[in-house]
Amino acid sequence: MGLPDHPPLASAPPAQRGCSPLPFAAPDSEDPALQQFLEQASAQLCSWLASASQRPPLPGLSVMPAVEPQQRPQPAGQLLSDLQLVMDGAYNPSHPGALAHLDPPPLAASIVGDLIGAGLNNNLLAEELSPSLTRLERSLMAWLAERLGLPAGSGGVPASGGTLSNLMALVTARHSRGLGCCADAVVLASADAHVSMAKALTVMGLPPQALHQLPVDAGGAMDAERLEQQLVQLRERGIPVIAVVATAGTTVRGAVDPLPEIATACQRHGVWLHVDGAIGAVFALSEAHRHRVPGLEQADSITLNPQKLLGITKTSSVLLLATPRLLEQAFGTGLPYMEPSWSGGHGGESGLQGSRPAEVLKLWLGLRQLGLAGIEAVLDGAVARRRQLQALLAPITGLHLVSGPLHLLAFTPRRGDPASAERWSLRTRQQLLAADLMLSRPLYGHRHHLKAVLGNPHTGTAELERLAGVVAASLGSPP
Ligand SMILES: *Cc1c(COP(=O)(O)O)cnc(C)c1O
Repeated sequence: MGLPDHPPLASAPPAQRGCSPLPFAAPDSEDPALQQFLEQASAQLCSWLASASQRPPLPGLSVMPAVEPQQRPQPAGQLLSDLQLVMDGAYNPSHPGALAHLDPPPLAASIVGDLIGAGLNNNLLAEELSPSLTRLERSLMAWLAERLGLPAGSGGVPASGGTLSNLMALVTARHSRGLGCCADAVVLASADAHVSMAKALTVMGLPPQALHQLPVDAGGAMDAERLEQQLVQLRERGIPVIAVVATAGTTVRGAVDPLPEIATACQRHGVWLHVDGAIGAVFALSEAHRHRVPGLEQADSITLNPQKLLGITKTSSVLLLATPRLLEQAFGTGLPYMEPSWSGGHGGESGLQGSRPAEVLKLWLGLRQLGLAGIEAVLDGAVARRRQLQALLAPITGLHLVSGPLHLLAFTPRRGDPASAERWSLRTRQQLLAADLMLSRPLYGHRHHLKAVLGNPHTGTAELERLAGVVAASLGSPP
């Protein structure tokens, strides 16, 4: 072979540059290096999961690996040992005492869905970049929407988190009402609505006052009569309403706003109803639990976060709409650098995100792995654990409990000023952590609470009894 008289073609083997082949899987034969790498990584992950109960929910400070790339490529063994350092310092959601947040252990099939989705490296931006996945996504969104009770023809789009789902819902509502250029339009929500509403308004170029937060009742739910009054007043003053946001499952206590009454008010005033069901909408997937979120089916749009109770690996959120084409009307730009859609439209035209991973894969696989019976079992377990903890804490004198119909429970000392409640929450959280129980410490109604999210399927009676014992002792109550 003589010396080439032209520069090497782009496809020339990289070995010619004195380097081993670049680490992309060979397209024409099994790649033993990749196979081994994946097998070792799987084994490492499985041992991390299998030792979860031997490590605390919240690890201490850990050693960090080097972050910058070295001059020479690193072998798989080195990468895996660097990875182990990060894993050693990671939050440990599979520990039975991990009760602080809405972040459960990962559902098995969703781990596989993430792996395969990464390997396929398709893009939900356009049909030609994800032919089967686009169809799978569209069909699964339609199934979810109908399962939640939305009318035939409903559907939606996955999003990287509930914050984004809520933002897309409000942008779509505003666009559908022709209020895009209206600087004084408002959004109504309860005082306990999620902070992502404020973020959405910021992105939408609206001032903080555009979010009207209505007081909640003693159960933490929106007062529907106050809502009706507010809607009447706004109409009289000529102030346009972008949407009413009802929450199905508030973040601290899991309260559910009275959706049927709110829907009636919205219909009467011709206002868009968005239900932020990031926590609670999942209960409508089961016949046995649907009664916890009645009226969901009357929403114009619903946020559902399978990444929470169902344990679908993050991120997994979906925005479902009764009329999904409104998404395309709000966000569609035309994709001049793509082939025209040959079936139901490009994924990138029906939402804010452009390039998007195949998050649908882990959701679809996870739902199929659980089956309707498994979904119901997850919900049953979560509600049963909340009830059990509630029963254990109720007899503790001086403790005020706040909860709702779902799987969240928060509590604070009945007596003392907010500063003493804060000191109690700090001290008690430390004592709980020392007992391998991790709770969170939200500020709710101007007082610090401790909050337990009972979505972890590994949590048993032993953990709940230990928890109640520490809390009782913190108030000087006999355990
Ligand atoms: C978690 C949550 C969100 C936001 O979801 P992210 O996935 O964290 O962006 C919105 N609303 C409620 C009620 C939530 O609990």
